[in-house]
Amino acid sequence: MLLSSYAAELKQKAQQGQLRRCKTVETIPIDVGGPQVRVDGRLAVNFSSNDYLGLSHHPRLQAAAIAAVQQYGTGSAASRLICGTNPLVVELETELARFKKAEAALVFNSGYQANVAILQAILGPQDWVFCDRLNHASLMDGCLLSKARWSRYRHLDLGHLEEKLAKAPPQARKWIVTDSVFSMDGDFPDLKGLVALAERYQALVMVDEAHATGLYGATGSGLCQQFGVSERVALQMGTFSKALGGSGAYVAGSRVLIDWLINHARGFIYSTAQSPPVIGAALAAVKLVQSDFTQRERLWQNMATLQRAVVAAGLTHRISVPLQSPIVPVLIGESVDTLRVSDALLAAGYFVQAIRPPTVPPKTGRLRIALSASHTEAQILGLVKALAPLLVG
Ligand code: PMP
Repeated sequence: MLLSSYAAELKQKAQQGQLRRCKTVETIPIDVGGPQVRVDGRLAVNFSSNDYLGLSHHPRLQAAAIAAVQQYGTGSAASRLICGTNPLVVELETELARFKKAEAALVFNSGYQANVAILQAILGPQDWVFCDRLNHASLMDGCLLSKARWSRYRHLDLGHLEEKLAKAPPQARKWIVTDSVFSMDGDFPDLKGLVALAERYQALVMVDEAHATGLYGATGSGLCQQFGVSERVALQMGTFSKALGGSGAYVAGSRVLIDWLINHARGFIYSTAQSPPVIGAALAAVKLVQSDFTQRERLWQNMATLQRAVVAAGLTHRISVPLQSPIVPVLIGESVDTLRVSDALLAAGYFVQAIRPPTVPPKTGRLRIALSASHTEAQILGLVKALAPLLVG
């Protein structure tokens, strides 16, 4: 009886095609034939994973995780301010600072936790924060918790951002916060223009490189590196959970900001440090992407294959080309239609997640194709062949 209001709302969500359900997905080892999974018992090619480089199964990462468990155990016992910092974390943060051309870095348990903790720590009610309207939910939540003056500009629209910046009091502390590669759209801002604008209005910049770390820039540092602005961005945040094949997150920036976070970021202060195998794998991944470009080149070849197939199948009204990242949205519209296409693809042997509101704006339901270096050409061509008849009309 006391729960009936929750049950009624869930039922309504189901009728609108908006109910979310965790499917059981078993990963099949990559060397058995590209990234395959068993979804609720059904074998399918995985086009829903953010493991863009296939590193989650890389022998070097696995060996590093096992070695870390053997040396330091499975758990880290307490938060770092209570029980101290494992030497592997020190090594990882030193490596990250170098990787990001920053003075210092700090590791968090997840990207969600990092963004909420960072924004809550660096912003107060008297500060102003400017966000791209499609920023990740964790960035939005951090801004909300901070109680800062919060202003959202149109997606990637630097003209609109400038209008908003011009309205803020010149003496106020201002932050501009943006994703680099947008998680549900696969596009990215002109970071050079954004940083120049920030400098003109004396605003600080935070960039979330969750979907760019390991993929862009000369050494895979991310889009800040690709745009040549690493040293002009106050905070470069990113995760180990996507192209780096592990889990957890980091932020890199000036010594003073990292010291501020150690003293104010509640998600850092009050949470048990990451476990040794997770740190061991992250360290191995950060070193690997700087020295071995094989997987990255394969991923870019796969993007070219997908793009050619999309053009040949006449699907450019639903899939924008040129592709800008391994995240390829297929715009559908209504949630029920999005689910229907996703279910039909699963029946054909392709696992492509349906993304619906509130993750994306109303009526912009989409399939989110996530490409990996591990996909074979046949898997990519097979996906497009299965998708084309489902998009007619
Ligand atoms: N930022 C962005 C842009 C993301 O897409 C995500 C998650 N997909 C996160 C942060 C959160 O990272 P995590 O999954 O490590 O919590």
